[in-house]
This record gives sequence, C-alpha cells and structure tokens, in this order.
Amino acid sequence: MDKNLTIHWFRQDLRIADNPSLYFAARQGSVITLYIVDKQQPAMGRASEVWLHYSLKKLNRALKHKLMVCQGEPLQILTDLIKQYPVTHIHWNRCYQPWQIKRDQKIKLQLAKQGVQVKSFNASLLWEPWGVLKKDQRPYRVFTAFYKHAFSKAEIPRKSLACPPDLENYQLPLTTKIDDLNLLPKSNWYRQLISHWQPGERAAQSLLDDFLNSKLYNYKTGRDFPAFDFVSRLSPYLHFGEISPHQIWWETTSLNSSDNSQHFLSELAWREFSYYLLYHYPDIINQNLQPKFDHFPWRQNRSQLLRWQQGQTGIPIIDAGMRELWQTGYMHNRVRMISASFLVKNLRIHWQQGAAWFWDCLFDADLANNTLSWQWVAGCGADAAPYFRIFNPVLQGQKFDPEGDYIYRYVGELSKLPVKYIFAPWEAPAEVLQNAGVVLGESYPKPMVDLKQSRQEALSAYKNLTFEEDKPQ
Ligand SMILES: Cc1cc2nc3c(=O)[nH]c(=O)nc-3n(C[C@H](O)[C@H](O)[C@H](O)COP(=O)(O)OP(=O)(O)OC[C@H]3O[C@@H](n4cnc5c(N)ncnc54)[C@H](O)[C@@H]3O)c2cc1C
Repeated sequence: MDKNLTIHWFRQDLRIADNPSLYFAARQGSVITLYIVDKQQPAMGRASEVWLHYSLKKLNRALKHKLMVCQGEPLQILTDLIKQYPVTHIHWNRCYQPWQIKRDQKIKLQLAKQGVQVKSFNASLLWEPWGVLKKDQRPYRVFTAFYKHAFSKAEIPRKSLACPPDLENYQLPLTTKIDDLNLLPKSNWYRQLISHWQPGERAAQSLLDDFLNSKLYNYKTGRDFPAFDFVSRLSPYLHFGEISPHQIWWETTSLNSSDNSQHFLSELAWREFSYYLLYHYPDIINQNLQPKFDHFPWRQNRSQLLRWQQGQTGIPIIDAGMRELWQTGYMHNRVRMISASFLVKNLRIHWQQGAAWFWDCLFDADLANNTLSWQWVAGCGADAAPYFRIFNPVLQGQKFDPEGDYIYRYVGELSKLPVKYIFAPWEAPAEVLQNAGVVLGESYPKPMVDLKQSRQEALSAYKNLTFEEDKPQ
C-alpha cells in the first residue's frame, strides 16, 4: 500500500477533466476517490437525485469502477478513513451553498487537528465571489457593474486542466454500491425524464462541441425561442460539475468574439452573479433580497398552485412550459420567465412556492440560480425585473413561439386548433373550437384567471405596499 494516500472528495465536480483537486491529488501519489451522500444536507430535489444516480454511474465507469460511495456524515466518514489508511492529504473543490461553506470550514478545522493536510480548489466559478468587490469593499448588486469589474479587473479565469495523466486510483474494499444509495424514486416517472438526457462528463463535452459548432452562431436571437434548439442545455452539467465553466469560457472565447459568443459568456456570467449574491447574502434562500417586499400580500391558494404545477392553467404557453418541466426535467429560459411571472404576479403566489416546485423537478435545480432567478422575476431580487413589468403570456407566446410549435409539442389537446388561436383558445369562435375538437373546461381548461384583471390586481397590491423609504420623514 502506498504510504501517502490522498482522498479526493467529489462533490459538485463529477468529472475527471479540468478537476483541480483531483489533478493535484494525482500528482501526490495514490488517490482514494470518494463521493458522500451527506445525510445532513438539505434535501435534493427528486429530479436531481435521479441525475446524480446516473452521473455517479458514469463517473465510476470512468474511474475504472474505483469510486467509493458512502452515505452519512462526511466528517465521520473521512475520520474513519484516516484511521484505517495512511491518508496524508484530503482535497476537494469548493462548494458555495451557505450550509456547504459552514460544513467545510468545520471539517477542515477538525481534520487539521488530526494532522491531515486539507486543500480546497476552485473548480466551478470563473471568479471567486470575494474577489469582485466595489471600491468600498461591498458586493455589487447590479449585474452589469459586477460583470464589467469581473471581466476587466478581476483575474482572468484560469485555463482548463487536462485529465490527471497518471491517476493511480486506490481501490478500497467497496461497501456501498451506487444502487444502494436509493437515489431513484419508486415510481417510473423518472424513466421518461431521463430518456431525454445523457448525464456525465462525456455527454457534457459533446453538448458543448455541438453547441459551439452548430448553435452559437444564432444564440443571441435564437435563445429566446423555445421551439428552436439554440441554447446549450449545459445547465445540469454545470450544476453537477460534469463540465467546468472555465472550459466553456475558454472554448468559447478561442472560437470567436462575435455578439453571439459575448452574449453566451454573459449568460454564463449571470450564473456567476447568482453564486456571488448567494455567497454575500446567504439569507436570500428564504428572504427577499429587497426587504420592502416582506409585506407583499402573497396569496395562499393550494388548488391554483396545483393547476400551475400540473400545466392545467388554461394558458397554453404556460401549460407547455410546466409540462416540458414535468416530462423532461428542463424548461426553456424564456418560458421559465413567463410561467414564473404568471405565478408570482397573476396568481400572487409566493416565489418560494414556485422555487420549491422547480427545485423538485429541474435536472439543473441549483440553489443559487433558482433562488436568484425567482427573486429576479418576482421583482424582489438584485437588479430585478420591476414588479410592475408583468409578462402577458399571450403576447409572449405570439412573439417567441410564433408558429405555436412549442405549444403544439406539449399541449396535445390543442393540436388541431389553428395557430391564430393557439395562444388564447378562449378567444376562438365556437365553430373553430368545435372543428378542433376542443371543449373548453372539458378537453382543455378555461383560463384559471382573467389575465387583464389579475394583472390589475397585482399592480394595485404592489401600489398599496408602503415601502419604508417612501414614507414621509
Ligand atoms: C424562474 C427561473 C428559475 C431558474 N432556475 C434555474 C436553476 O435552478 N438552475 C439553473 O441552472 N438555471 C436556472 N434558471 C436560469 C436559466 O433558465 C437556465 O440556466 C437556462 O435556461 C439553462 O439552459 P441552458 O443551459 O440551455 O442555457 P444557455 O442559454 O445555454 O446558457 C448557458 C449557461 O449559462 C447559465 N445561464 C443562462 N441563463 C441564465 C440565467 N438567466 N441566470 C443564471 N444563469 C444562466 C446557465 O448555467 C446555462 O447553462 C432559472 C430561470 C428562471 C427564470
């Protein structure tokens, strides 16, 4: 047995290439590659667990079946390994959720006391959140200012690293198998979901290649049209660390510096901004970033929430989006904005209830991106869409799905309705509905709210809010 073992603890870095922690661990000698399902962590969504299952399988195969998987309390598991094997170093790549930061600080301290060297690396962010600050050392709250600073003044994102050339992966007697982690749900719902995807590092690389070769050229415009395939779909891979943002960054910049690539990089930077805000304002998971929204009169309405979740709102573009989510574990960004706006504005249901549903169903469910995006749509986040800007889902559909292709794909009940009425079937003459075999309220729901009226109600609720800073002194 090697006298100096290093543990590389996989977390949100389920890849071998461009993995700094693994790379430097391999340079020190034999490595124990370990993944822990941390039982104390806040629960993952159901879709995320499915993705994790398949992703671990792929990683294990790439590691020649030498990935050790465990379930339990990380400090305890690491301490046990140190006691049993000559472990001198423990490496990991940094994670940025508030509970992960606290946990890792504690573990680092405890392991140091046991005489083990702990090293952490950056594998998932282009810029460390503490490295981009205003002159007064406070964090930015406006995206463009953040991005401008990061882009021009902060350190250039590091170049990607190759796979460790001489990874000597130490085989431990395996106790737990990936199947024993019980990450797959009992129901068959996930089978259809995962059939649309190939988790894992290799799939991430081919998606990136395909995106750069055949989609990037039209990204800036095409990214808004949900029926077309002009986005990268890299979000779950980025979340689980099956690909690094550094690799995406360098492969994109080395290609060209067109408007399209600049726009793509700026979207990648929105992800950085979410992580940045979550790091500097960890309470935003449960609290409005702008406290003035704390008194907003959100409505509790279980049955309306359920109809939204099930894609039964009676508003086709929203139903298409919610069904895409349920059937594929993904929803196009434009439709995420439309359906989220409908929930928080037309229905006035709290953004946290929407975020919780997305958390459960999205393969890319990501605490930073999900929280900040919901707060952005609700108007209470940083640099947010103003509350009074309320998406009209009919106009949004007409503009971004002009042929109705996306709606037809997911709302089969309306397949025979002419495109003229596909965005607002309630406006179709009775004869048209009849010819299309649509009976509103039976074969397809009537709209659950009147869009104009609910918009007005949302605006008045917003107007009635007395913001502290608006009060006369
Ligand atoms: C209500 C709501 C909830 C969301 N929840 C999540 C979530 O849980 N996880 C998640 O990764 N994204 C979330 N997003 C952001 C965005 O919708 C997705 O990142 C994007 O649709 C992923 O598809 P893509 O990889 O094809 O994106 P592309 O357009 O190809 O963009 C490339 C990458 O840039 C990042 N990115 C793109 N758009 C955004 C954005 N608006 N904000 C932050 N990062 C972005 C993502 O990492 C994405 O993979 C949410 C957006 C909304 C409106």
